[in-house]
Amino acid sequence: MDGVPGALAAFYGPLAAPPRDLFAFFVWDVISARALPARRDIAWLALKRLPALTPDAMFRASKEDLKAAIESLGGFDERLEALRAGSGHFKRHRDLPERVSGPLRGAVRALRDVPHLTPAAQVRALLYAGGHPLAAADDGVARVVSRLHGRPPTSSAATRRFARRTLAAAFGRDRDVLGHNLVLLGHHASRACVEHAPHCGVCPLRDGCAWGRARLS
Ligand code: SF4
Repeated sequence: MDGVPGALAAFYGPLAAPPRDLFAFFVWDVISARALPARRDIAWLALKRLPALTPDAMFRASKEDLKAAIESLGGFDERLEALRAGSGHFKRHRDLPERVSGPLRGAVRALRDVPHLTPAAQVRALLYAGGHPLAAADDGVARVVSRLHGRPPTSSAATRRFARRTLAAAFGRDRDVLGHNLVLLGHHASRACVEHAPHCGVCPLRDGCAWGRARLS
């Protein structure tokens, strides 16, 4: 993985990272699903301006204001339902941020009940909002890491396990380093190293990517 973060950072420029506040992370996750990063960033600023980045503020925000902030992302009804359900859950469980930044076992249990947070998002929440130094590779990140190492396609669980081991070995247990590099790899997975027909011809990692080189030869 030597040189990978540097090459991606030079290619894509600065990228926004998920917030460290747990409820803000939850909102970020809801608005990031199936959204272009540029649109997600505009919606994020609009929610911040409302304001709607605390459970109470989100609960108080009117449907019209939330619609104006996030409608351009698509899937408004589904996102609104997730934000409403999430803010209610956080209001009922005020100790959630504390539990998630506490011992890992309790943090994992606390996140299980958060509505609309997928298992992959729960692992990211442990890293970004809980401060647990986990190599939180989702399917996209796992795909990039796997291809860089020329691994044949396997089940996604096995690919994720390989990616997590590889990332942990490469980037250690520094939460900031892991978080930054996962943002870069996740962005690359969504923009260039897509599942079908990846853009290997213009990829900044092409020279060091076993799978990409084989594909282009
Ligand atoms: S060269 Fe192709 S397969 Fe390799 S990382 Fe780049 S886009 Fe992905």
